[in-house]
Amino acid sequence: MLPCGRVYARPVADLRCTHCGANGLEAGFIMDSGEHGKGFSRWVEGRLERGIFGGAKLLGRTKREITAYRCPHCFHLELFADNPS
Ligand SMILES: [Zn+2]
Repeated sequence: MLPCGRVYARPVADLRCTHCGANGLEAGFIMDSGEHGKGFSRWVEGRLERGIFGGAKLLGRTKREITAYRCPHCFHLELFADNPS
């Protein structure tokens, strides 16, 4: 989110693949099909810390939705962690 409170939406037309330089990237997301998942993966602020049962400590961490842009030429993924989730 920008300091003015607006969510930054990167225009797809401005995106270029950082691997091969092609444009025309295709928007998508990383699916999470875990038993207690919401159906999509999220970026979590800070390094991974595990709790006593091995799960990730998430309390108080900022979480953001991940937008994954796929290059149609080399299939590289460009990931952006944008909207808070
Ligand atoms: Zn590419």
